[in-house]
Amino acid sequence: MKVHSTLPPTAAPIPIGALAAGAVALVGGRPRATEVAQELAQWQQAAQAFLVSSGKAALAIILTALASTSSRRKVIIPAYTCYSVPSAVVKAGLEIVPCDVDPTTLDFNLTCLETLLDEQTLCVISTHLFGLSADVEAVLARCRPKGIVVVEDAAQAMGGTRNGKLVGSLGLVGLFSLGRGKNVSCGGGGVIVTSSRELAAAIQLVCETTQQESVAGAAVNWAELLATSFLIRPSLYWLPAGLPFLGLGETKFYRDFPIERMSDARAAALTGWQGRLEQDNRTRREQAELFIKELAASAPSIVVLAKAESVYLRLPVLVADRPTKEWILRESSLRGLGVSGAYPDTITHIPELAGSLLHYQDAGARLLVDRLVTVPTHRYVSASHRAAIGRLFAEAADRSGETTLSTTQVHSVGTNHSVARPDQAGASAMRHTQTDMKV
Ligand SMILES: *Cc1c(COP(=O)(O)O)cnc(C)c1O
Repeated sequence: MKVHSTLPPTAAPIPIGALAAGAVALVGGRPRATEVAQELAQWQQAAQAFLVSSGKAALAIILTALASTSSRRKVIIPAYTCYSVPSAVVKAGLEIVPCDVDPTTLDFNLTCLETLLDEQTLCVISTHLFGLSADVEAVLARCRPKGIVVVEDAAQAMGGTRNGKLVGSLGLVGLFSLGRGKNVSCGGGGVIVTSSRELAAAIQLVCETTQQESVAGAAVNWAELLATSFLIRPSLYWLPAGLPFLGLGETKFYRDFPIERMSDARAAALTGWQGRLEQDNRTRREQAELFIKELAASAPSIVVLAKAESVYLRLPVLVADRPTKEWILRESSLRGLGVSGAYPDTITHIPELAGSLLHYQDAGARLLVDRLVTVPTHRYVSASHRAAIGRLFAEAADRSGETTLSTTQVHSVGTNHSVARPDQAGASAMRHTQTDMKV
């Protein structure tokens, strides 16, 4: 534990007014959950929105609703994503099918996706990782003719857009997370939005079988929310960061988790959510742009995975190799800089899944496990933090020397198309788009 300024990897600050509204709602009042759900539906131009206990609960409900009207049982998910996603698939009693990702876009490797789609495929989960929009259109084009549903996992991209349209509304159904490290938070929670009245009715049926969170549960959440609102400040974050039993930033596979409808008190803590979301996402974008400039100047060999219209919950970058990544994470922790490594392994290697997915291709995802680090973009990152992070990457580049990720090397990690040329629709702002991409 180090008693000094420490940046959290992500932060969604909670205003005093929202905390107060949450406290008032604990002792009764308006049906805030219904009201906020209506606000969310209107914002997304969705047929209906649902507020539930977490993002993974939202996904499990969506999958249960889809499975209730189909005999198909396979759910295709990215081979590199949050472990909550396979947890939700297992919770819904369905089969996980991991699809390899393109390490330069963090999105599906479409060649790989095509080989996995079959008559048993219920849905494909298109994921906007770190706030970078996924190519949902490409997935829709491949799925629609086969009667496969596209679910948008926008847990990390609430408020983000793709070609001017809000993410979450591009496929048939989408989800957001309101967890602590997400774009906007009420401590924990999830949102389902769908444009289909038919699916909304099926989701409604599933929701009716679940309980609303108890007042006691809402009170505990409120106390945690209060603590979080103070402890995410860099001057205090060293405290929770130094307590391993809190498991902050840990990636967990949940064998089971509660599925509940959100309490009114928790929903009340979302008061002003739209303004909060816009303000914090604007800050994240600005921070990312400043970092892109900072890294271009201080560590030009680092590959920044930038994309137009992103909300950058974190800024993803690729470093030379695994030892370099490990060195950066160790040093960042000592220096309190909030640089983090995202997920510890590919979905195929989650220990709880006991090797049942090892036959699926995941070389692109593996490259990310070895070389992806993320830079914090929230409002507590100062100019001196940015400079210190720039120096950290510069030192890392000096240690590892310049490594080149050539197209042939990328091919050898298992993609059939040139991953050195990211998709055009995403208008990639990657600084290295030539055949020889310096890493
Ligand atoms: C956080 C997250 C989820 C799950 O959300 P929780 O609210 O934490 O359950 C799902 N998918 C992705 C990509 C996430 O980052």
